[in-house]
Amino acid sequence: MSRKFLLSGAAALAVVAAPLTAGTALAAPAAAPAVTTVYYDTSGAPTFRDVIRAGAANWNRAVSNVQLQERASGATLRYQEGNDPQGSYAETDGHGSGRIFIDYTQAKQYDQVRIAAHETGHALGLPDHYQGPCTELMSGGGPGPSCHNANPNSQEASRVQSLWANGFRSAGVPTRIYEQMPVLSH
Ligand SMILES: [Zn+2]
Repeated sequence: MSRKFLLSGAAALAVVAAPLTAGTALAAPAAAPAVTTVYYDTSGAPTFRDVIRAGAANWNRAVSNVQLQERASGATLRYQEGNDPQGSYAETDGHGSGRIFIDYTQAKQYDQVRIAAHETGHALGLPDHYQGPCTELMSGGGPGPSCHNANPNSQEASRVQSLWANGFRSAGVPTRIYEQMPVLSH
């Protein structure tokens, strides 16, 4: 009787111990901060390399769940420059992949870091909000060329934080978003 009891006790301990061990092993990665790194490539936009870096640095200071890092190869986000009659655009899944095109004409009239940071905002999942004030990054060309703010406001940062809270999720279909910046006559 007592022997049977001891065996049962040992078996019960083993059963209890196994889930505890497994639980500890599973909990460790979940407790670590879920930072996703988005690698970007500026080789297609050499004129704007510094402003792209400045825009990425602004985002990196504002959010922690996703960080942008430049890399020569294997990047998922590529910046390009050139002339497009329709202006700058972001062609992205909103989750760190795609292509950002900076148009020369718009770059001559609008704050370049703001353009780069705004387009990067699309790659991080934010839509346009042209009616917003200059303090909003995603108001883009809405407040006009005198707006030089190139930082997301707290609401925009919070939105990106929550979009990336669970790390990288599978990419959707890339969509091209053209910027509605009126071309000004000089
Ligand atoms: Zn936009």
